[in-house]
Amino acid sequence: MAHLFHEPPPTAGLPLSMLDFLPSKTSLEEGLAVFLQQECVQIESSGTAAIMVALAALKCLGNRRSVIIPAYTCPFVPLAILRCGLKPIICDTKKNHFDFCLTSLEAACNKDTLAIIPTHLGGRVADLANIMKIAQQFGAYVVEDAAQALGARWQGQLVGTLGDVGCYSLGVGKGLTIYGGGAVIARKSEVRKALQTTHSEIVPFKLTWEIQRLLGLIGYYVFYRPLGLGLVFGIPLRKNLQQGKLIEAVGDDCLADFPVHHVGRWRKAIGAKALKRLPDFHDAGRKQALSRKAQLRKILGVNVMDDTEGDIGTWPYLLVLMPTQQSRDAALAQLWSAKSGVGRLFIHALSDYDYLPFSEVKAPNAQDFAARTLTITNSPWLDEEDFLKICEVLERVIG
Ligand SMILES: *Cc1c(COP(=O)(O)O)cnc(C)c1O
Repeated sequence: MAHLFHEPPPTAGLPLSMLDFLPSKTSLEEGLAVFLQQECVQIESSGTAAIMVALAALKCLGNRRSVIIPAYTCPFVPLAILRCGLKPIICDTKKNHFDFCLTSLEAACNKDTLAIIPTHLGGRVADLANIMKIAQQFGAYVVEDAAQALGARWQGQLVGTLGDVGCYSLGVGKGLTIYGGGAVIARKSEVRKALQTTHSEIVPFKLTWEIQRLLGLIGYYVFYRPLGLGLVFGIPLRKNLQQGKLIEAVGDDCLADFPVHHVGRWRKAIGAKALKRLPDFHDAGRKQALSRKAQLRKILGVNVMDDTEGDIGTWPYLLVLMPTQQSRDAALAQLWSAKSGVGRLFIHALSDYDYLPFSEVKAPNAQDFAARTLTITNSPWLDEEDFLKICEVLERVIG
């Protein structure tokens, strides 16, 4: 924490190598299909675009219009639902969790429920068995939001492959990145066909977006290293924090007109090459996270979000639930701007964003979860010494 420019990123993103940029015939679709053990993977311009294309496709397969999402998730998700003319319904979470409260979920379902979106947040695996049971009962589709969980496993099976549709993000900070990208898969061939048709109908080619994002990906290669991050991530972060702009600080300032366009071949080839390093990167990350989770557990009152027995998640960061909002805020006051890899996930429950239409909705558990959580990066660039300093701060603020 005492280093001048050295700064770990908030999540464990996979760094690029210069060799990833060399021309190659490697296909991202094929690489991901092998990685996910699927026949076919469709690439979109973001995780949000993947969810949008998925829902627009499902919309055509019936006449239902509502989509149920957990009240604590990425604000882009309801924007994707609205963008395809569907109705987002937010459902409160379990106490001390981001996953659906099953009683509330069942109560929210009805004959208009097109889809339920269980979300594997921060690489942690949602309670798919019970959610899929409820979906089946109401004849709703299950769209798994695995934006933050590419490679995580629910009871041995890869998340995203169990529901009707699985969506992944290849955005910056989500592990494997092509600087704006997403992937979508479907279990049944009928749904797969609908995904392809929808893509060809609504996804345009936009050269300016592709160029911007290619430059972004080159920038990612250049700056995604401890010294570069202090510059391109740290300086704007601290500026936002100083001005009290928390939503901007974490990038929750989501736009309804998010870009939707074809992803170019070069960016996909770069992603395909980097993907080959992802399994080893995940293994090393898991080892580090399990050891750090055990260390955090020793601090009385600190709760680290974990997987149920049999589930093996990925570890982009450790999602930490503090005993009170006061202790969480006290910890952040010391750590957030201190180049420590500590920060926050989404600032609010979905009911509390001004730009979303949920101000009437009550989601007390999700609000409480938002108020008491912080994140600790699982980047390999947070060394043991700095991690122990974080533990000391947490211990002190709980006191
Ligand atoms: C990031 C994220 C998304 C959206 O993915 P983008 O690639 O950023 O559009 C959707 N859901 C969750 C849970 C996310 O974390």
